[in-house]
Amino acid sequence: MNRFARQIALAEVGVAGQRRLAESRVAIIGTGSLGTVSAELLARAGVGFLRLVDRDYVSLDNLPRSALFNEDDALQSKPKALAAADHLAEFISDAVIDPRVIDVNAATIEGLIADVDLVIDGTDNFEARYLLNDACHKLRKPWIHGAVLGTSGALMTIQPSGPCLRCFAPSPPPPGSYPTCASSGVIGAATALVATYQAIEALKLLLALEESGALSPGTTSGNGAHNCNESPAPLSTQYFSLDVWSHETDGVLIAQDPGCKTCVQQEYEFLDKPVSTISSELCGRDEFQVRPGSATTIDLNAAATRLRSQGAVTVSPFILTFDDGNLRFKLFKDGRAMIKGVASGEAALSVYADYIGL
Ligand SMILES: [Zn+2]
Repeated sequence: MNRFARQIALAEVGVAGQRRLAESRVAIIGTGSLGTVSAELLARAGVGFLRLVDRDYVSLDNLPRSALFNEDDALQSKPKALAAADHLAEFISDAVIDPRVIDVNAATIEGLIADVDLVIDGTDNFEARYLLNDACHKLRKPWIHGAVLGTSGALMTIQPSGPCLRCFAPSPPPPGSYPTCASSGVIGAATALVATYQAIEALKLLLALEESGALSPGTTSGNGAHNCNESPAPLSTQYFSLDVWSHETDGVLIAQDPGCKTCVQQEYEFLDKPVSTISSELCGRDEFQVRPGSATTIDLNAAATRLRSQGAVTVSPFILTFDDGNLRFKLFKDGRAMIKGVASGEAALSVYADYIGL
């Protein structure tokens, strides 16, 4: 407890609050520019369990905006979840850090959040956020949405009782109709500030649940997470936005939409959607992800031996990189590949079939 003396001195935390944080379980979905910052803040604050989920690998262009990654991670193309977990372990030895190098989709999301108290949105695409909105409502998990573009960002704390993301924006915009970090740029101070607010909202939720008595022994659910059905009224139903360049802030009060598909009608259409084999949602990169049709494990060394006659191959414990001058792809142990140098998802699928095998 000495370690947290100055935090315990805060009336908002105290000894009981600090103990509660040590028992808390948080999943961070997406450990890029938002997720690494909130992960570091929550780990340093004493949250006892952090699940870090990311399908991607560290590249040099992540470094201006992320905490927890270094140049070595980028040179090794280390999976983001593993790199973040390794660096957290350097300063937090008694927290449980659970890295997952996995694609977040309708087939995987529920298993990733079922045993946590709350979820933090560190994603960079609408597909994942609407999926999170459905899954968190279905499993009664509070979650904290965050998004950043250019010099501005926004966040919204969403409770199982609603209002939810779909009360604010009923459907995601059509692909290609909105600016992205690739087209508009993004600055690390904005991602760091939004992630800081997300971490604070997470701490407030965890501590408020302690105060309400909702998480006292006996209301703990069987899977290790706490039952949030009894959580207090939403701390915030504001869609809060800010701009780090102009210092402007705005808060729009979000009311529950009586026709909301998710938090009123409980129709989880994003969760029920079949998982697509191809995903092009790799923000800011001319790259397509191909997922294998079913769960698999790839022997990267065996694949490297097969591919060496066709191009340059490097293999690390986590990832295989192939480059023949035109085509470049990275292959993960779970069978996913991220393919560059192709014009469409269909072309990426064809590369996957030719080089890796479906
Ligand atoms: Zn709603």
